[in-house]
Amino acid sequence: MNAVIYRGTHEIGGTLIELNSGESRLLLDAGYPLFLDGNPIDDRVAKLPSEQLLGLGVLPKIEGLYLWDTPNFDGIIISHAHIDHYGLLKYVHPNIPVYLSAGTKKLIEVSQTFKICETYPINAWVFSMYETFNVGCFSVKPYLIDHSAFDAAAIEIQSAGKTVIYSGDFRGHGRKAVCLDTFIKHVIKQADVLFTEGSMVSRSDELTITENELELAVVDEIKGKRGITLVQSSSQNIDRIVSFYRVALRLGKTFVVDVYTANVLHELHALGNNILYPSYEKLKVFFPYRLTQKIFNEIGAEYAKRFSAYYIPKEQVAAQQNDIVMWARPSIKSDLERCNLTGGTFIYSMWQGYRESAYQQSFENWLTGQGFRSVFLHTSGHATVSDIRRLIDGLNPKKIVPIHTMLPDAFLGYSNKVELKEDGVAFEI
Ligand SMILES: [Zn+2]
Ligand SMILES: [Zn+2]
Repeated sequence: MNAVIYRGTHEIGGTLIELNSGESRLLLDAGYPLFLDGNPIDDRVAKLPSEQLLGLGVLPKIEGLYLWDTPNFDGIIISHAHIDHYGLLKYVHPNIPVYLSAGTKKLIEVSQTFKICETYPINAWVFSMYETFNVGCFSVKPYLIDHSAFDAAAIEIQSAGKTVIYSGDFRGHGRKAVCLDTFIKHVIKQADVLFTEGSMVSRSDELTITENELELAVVDEIKGKRGITLVQSSSQNIDRIVSFYRVALRLGKTFVVDVYTANVLHELHALGNNILYPSYEKLKVFFPYRLTQKIFNEIGAEYAKRFSAYYIPKEQVAAQQNDIVMWARPSIKSDLERCNLTGGTFIYSMWQGYRESAYQQSFENWLTGQGFRSVFLHTSGHATVSDIRRLIDGLNPKKIVPIHTMLPDAFLGYSNKVELKEDGVAFEI
């Protein structure tokens, strides 16, 4: 078996790993990059024609993968529903089968339905965690893993007597931390190669708190304070939504999500997942004006009407503002203006890198002007150094190849089996 990492040996995001064995070719993730030439990638880049994207390296040169090529891959495995792992599917030939979990598929569909990402056909094949399936001459077994994306998978691949383990993005401090223990316990040991992520290798572990600790920190932060609590985080980060819902319950407050976030919960709940749903106690749904117009005019009235029983009007938000924890983002600023808020706490709970844009800044400046105090309370979706070491020790692979990291060299201190690779250079497993 051979491998090529097209992107990810020296950067976070945009992961693409090819495995080939005999006549079979398999791609692990089809990620859109987070960075271009070391700088966060601009939204405008995505709109460039594909020839230019190939020239810039946003689309690595991979024969037999893209729309305009003769397809020559047996399949693509998508580890989880983050754009830096699936965003290149837009350019992939629609005949190539894409294997992914039900939750990953649903989250991508919700993003497409709500026009958060472009709509394009995906030749989707849903896999079940812990059940082996075949792609060409590869045997593939996905394992549920703890990450900020719902229903994320780590992958075990076997072919021609060789075994490869791909960690995907993972952590051991979320609400599904036990999944990392299960993975370490059951996955094949002494694999020929372990591809492991290393997003956080430059950070000290003490800076990383668990989701539970985050929940308690938020309670401490807002307990006894006057005013509404506005939270900005990802509407697809279910762990985080649950953390803030639990904060609201602990403090006897109502948790208010917008109709998009409510749809994310609804769709995952409808798959049979036992997760937070708008019918839960003290959970209400807010209908931002522009988003609601978009739902009725472009998306489908049912995506709004399904939550009419849980509707909270802005007058009620205004009247009960001291007792509300509310999901917010810059696009609902004009709705918040109509809620007559008299200050409160704004909690930013996602990666700070997203915070630099003028749009975000103008939202936060407006909040400050309204008497809001701003707090940053977040914990990463990625593994701490001790959890990476725990993975390496538990799996005892013959070779460790770091990916999804800015600092591959840091791994050299974790094991003498680490091999550093370069993007685009093939190697034997
Ligand atoms: Zn990632
Ligand atoms: Zn991720």
